[in-house]
Amino acid sequence: MKKILQDSRGPLTAKRFFRLRQMLLLALSIGIVLISPYLQQQVVKAQSGLPSRVATGNLWQEASFPVENFETYTSAFGPRGGDFHYGLDLAAPEGSYIRNWWGGQIVEVWEDGRCGTGMVVRSGNWEHIYCHLRGRVLTANGGRYYTDREGGLQIWQGQTVPAGARIARVGMTGRTSGPHLHWGLKYGGRWVDPALVLREMYSQQS
Ligand SMILES: [Zn+2]
Repeated sequence: MKKILQDSRGPLTAKRFFRLRQMLLLALSIGIVLISPYLQQQVVKAQSGLPSRVATGNLWQEASFPVENFETYTSAFGPRGGDFHYGLDLAAPEGSYIRNWWGGQIVEVWEDGRCGTGMVVRSGNWEHIYCHLRGRVLTANGGRYYTDREGGLQIWQGQTVPAGARIARVGMTGRTSGPHLHWGLKYGGRWVDPALVLREMYSQQS
């Protein structure tokens, strides 16, 4: 009886065993391909706070606190009055200089009703946003630039700026009830709480 069964299924030769293994591997790899976008999503979701890759080492040594004459934090990153506040508000007397947090390129300067006179600097995967600036945005020679004549500033869209450079001054443009810098941060296109970055900077600089 045993012999007959074995005959009908055929002997388990090395060739047959190999085919079985291949099928298994194929099924496994298809499974991995199918679930990998889901896994990636989970990994991204799990990144609470700072991406660990950038939160390690002494990366923040040259980073600059973004405003002079800092007084106090007036509004944190997070939910605010049924809305979400995508930045940190740093109060300082009107006209105080704003310092570029991290060396990079001015990717945009603009004026709107909410941010007021604003500026975005890109540094690798980071984007730092500055709002309610004193001064205006003008165009000349096919380019755009931020200007604050009293502050002695003229910053062109596209120019590079080192860390710590005075790039603007605190103003009252846009929607604001008092002079402050609204400072926003994005890493890889996702908003990051600037307070986490400041905490990291100070733990390494002190
Ligand atoms: Zn704000």
